[in-house]
Amino acid sequence: MVKQTIQIFARVKPTVRKQQQGIYSIDEDEKLTPSLEIILPRDLADGFVNNKRESYKFKFQRIFDQDAKQEAIFENIAKPVAESVLAGYNGTIFAYGQTSSGKTFTITGGAERYSDRGIIPRTLSYIFEQLQKDSSKIYTTHISYLEIYNECGYDLLDPRHEASTLEDLPKVTVLEDPDQNIHLKNLSLHQATTEEEALNLLFLGDTNRMIAETPMNQASTRSHCIFTIHLSSKEPGSATVRRAKLHLVDLAGSERVAKTGVGGQLLTEAKYINLSLHYLEQVIVALSEKHRSHIPYRNSMMTSVLRDSLGGNCMTTMIATLSLEKRNIDESISTCRFAQRVALIRNEAVLNEEIDPRLMILRLQKEIQELKDELALVTGEQRTEALTEAELLQLEKLITSFLEDQDPESKLEVGADMRKIHHCFHYLKKLLTDKKIHGPSRAPFSEVKDQVNQGPSTEEEYKKLREILQQRDNEINILVNMLKKEKKKAQDALHSSSMDRGEPRRSQSSPFPPGNPEGLRTLPLSAPTQAQDSSVIQYRSSLLHRKTGVREEMSLGRQEAFEIFKRDHADSVTIEDNKQILKQRFSEAKSLGESINEARRKIGRLKEEITQRHVQQVALGISENTTVPSAPDPMEEKLRSQLEEEKTRYKTMFMRLKALKVEIEHLQLLMDKAKVKLQKEFDAWWAEEATSLQVNSPPVNLFNHVKPFPQTPESQHKRSQLLSNQSDVYTRKILPSPGPLLHSQEQSSTGTRLEDSIAKRPVSSVPLTGDSQTDSDILAFIKARQSILQRTDRPSSLPSFPST
Ligand code: ADP
Ligand code: MG
Repeated sequence: MVKQTIQIFARVKPTVRKQQQGIYSIDEDEKLTPSLEIILPRDLADGFVNNKRESYKFKFQRIFDQDAKQEAIFENIAKPVAESVLAGYNGTIFAYGQTSSGKTFTITGGAERYSDRGIIPRTLSYIFEQLQKDSSKIYTTHISYLEIYNECGYDLLDPRHEASTLEDLPKVTVLEDPDQNIHLKNLSLHQATTEEEALNLLFLGDTNRMIAETPMNQASTRSHCIFTIHLSSKEPGSATVRRAKLHLVDLAGSERVAKTGVGGQLLTEAKYINLSLHYLEQVIVALSEKHRSHIPYRNSMMTSVLRDSLGGNCMTTMIATLSLEKRNIDESISTCRFAQRVALIRNEAVLNEEIDPRLMILRLQKEIQELKDELALVTGEQRTEALTEAELLQLEKLITSFLEDQDPESKLEVGADMRKIHHCFHYLKKLLTDKKIHGPSRAPFSEVKDQVNQGPSTEEEYKKLREILQQRDNEINILVNMLKKEKKKAQDALHSSSMDRGEPRRSQSSPFPPGNPEGLRTLPLSAPTQAQDSSVIQYRSSLLHRKTGVREEMSLGRQEAFEIFKRDHADSVTIEDNKQILKQRFSEAKSLGESINEARRKIGRLKEEITQRHVQQVALGISENTTVPSAPDPMEEKLRSQLEEEKTRYKTMFMRLKALKVEIEHLQLLMDKAKVKLQKEFDAWWAEEATSLQVNSPPVNLFNHVKPFPQTPESQHKRSQLLSNQSDVYTRKILPSPGPLLHSQEQSSTGTRLEDSIAKRPVSSVPLTGDSQTDSDILAFIKARQSILQRTDRPSSLPSFPST
């Protein structure tokens, strides 16, 4: 058992403006525990005596300043946790901090560069690398990805993730069994046999999360995400299975409600996130107080799920992400304070080992066989199941002479063979009952009764043997029961929810017996899981196709608009960059592949040459009638050293190719994700265009048949939701199909109207919501629209509208 407090680390996000220096300082020298000092600027600390500077000091295990690389974060924070998970302990890493302080960047990684990949992909890479190296154990890896939003859990890896909003997804719920163990119903577990498969799952989950996010519900800042790697290992033939899970948690933004200051849905969300973080804090405070018997885990879903990762059986690490700019000082201080409280919790991590009953039975059977063999060796005779006729006859003779022997000390020696011993007892019993029935007149065994009575030991032995028999019966029953439960548990684990596979006692009482209608959804037979896993990749590509490959279904005009939108989009630079890098990597991989093949051929040639050389030497020896010269052949030496060189070269290139493969895969996933994002933003922009056209244009014949939406804020909200769901349909509805003759005229009139609408809608007149995020989104849309209009010189080159 390992006891340690929760490790806390701080990471400072790079600031945009350099002049923010002076707000904080890092003291690395303080007796190995560095401290972060946050200095309140004078204007904020105003009102204090002497106008002196106020500062706050916080201690951390380690502080990563702005220039810290993702590599260093992984090496120092995640790798030790991954190592303990590989050793069979549970582990958790969670990022805590206000929105935009770098939680997602730290946990998952940046969306642009391969070098920006965060803790999850690096940890997966590391774990799979280690698993591959260790052939002494059999490992199984499963992945789950849970999002908690407004106190509801959603499975980000649900293969039926067709939903356009989170709320359409089946909800993951927390269930507690009588032993107070947590089970997550509806959370799917996916087996990943390679790093690539696991990465695919990560990207699938992230893409699903992005698709489900709408401007109205910015799930990414308001939800918690828990990516879990479930690892089980056992030595071949051993009955002990070690299970460990690693939670990598991207928490919701920690900013307080008061600052958000918005109404409606946002407030509800703020209430929920802040409540759940508040409950997290409560749990943490309760855990840090000694002698507290009740820990309020049950107050929120987050704390229920992380229950055994907070002050439980776990190695827990927290990364406080800080965006140390003047306006964030308050939040940064509160993040650090939270971290200081977390640091007080002491965790006890224990190895999660359990016995696999199937293996136990196998092991016992093997042991029996071995014992039998050993016995055969000692007795010099092979055991068969039944005693032979001759053996039986001999036994009976022995018994008779034993009974007839007057010497009270005499012994019945049959050897260490239970079958013979049993037979003796049976025989004696039979004699005894016979005697009872036929009376004492039945000589020659007149003394049998006395003898039996005299020998209480025999009766005792008999009783003992019966007891042993009973014990064995019980053992067999128990094992059979365990086997049944194990089978059920395996099904549970694969299909339902059991995120908690920690201890054997726990999972035995899973709340979902097969056939329970509640568990139905999560308890199909075991086979589909594999199919499900292999379909993940397929699913991902179909998902991407659906989300990005809708070009064929787009009208020409929309396609054109999409091209312009894409060209102007900030992400297009990244996509283009990545495309170039990808091209480079591909060609590098290609030439590397060729070199590898060349090296392989060369190795083959060298081997052949060496063999030929051997043959020649032998032939020479035979022809000259001498033995093969014992002196080393310089030619062969040379060939051998060449062979070694070539092998080393081959290995180096092979490793490089492997690394390239991972990088290429990662880049492709990044690009896929960027494409989905672009498409999504385009759809939103397009819908916005359609609305503003309709709302701001004076009703003209062209639009007469469409009933404009009333202008209440509520209906506006409804409309934008409708639009984001059904932008295509809606656009087609309000834009009539142009007749062949009207085509050019209509295009230009629509184009003018578009320009008009923008002219009529100066940026300053846009109703702002007061929420800076939403406002900046709105302004960005308008800017994008204007930039498109500026780029298109003639109205006729504007996106033509759908003709179908
Ligand atoms: P959060 O998840 O906390 O809301 P993000 O991880 O999304 O914040 O970070 C906000 C922005 O800052 C992103 O564009 C991200 O790429 C960038 N960012 C965060 N941390 C770093 C860092 N250490 N280096 C470079 N960019 C960063
Ligand atoms: Mg985030």
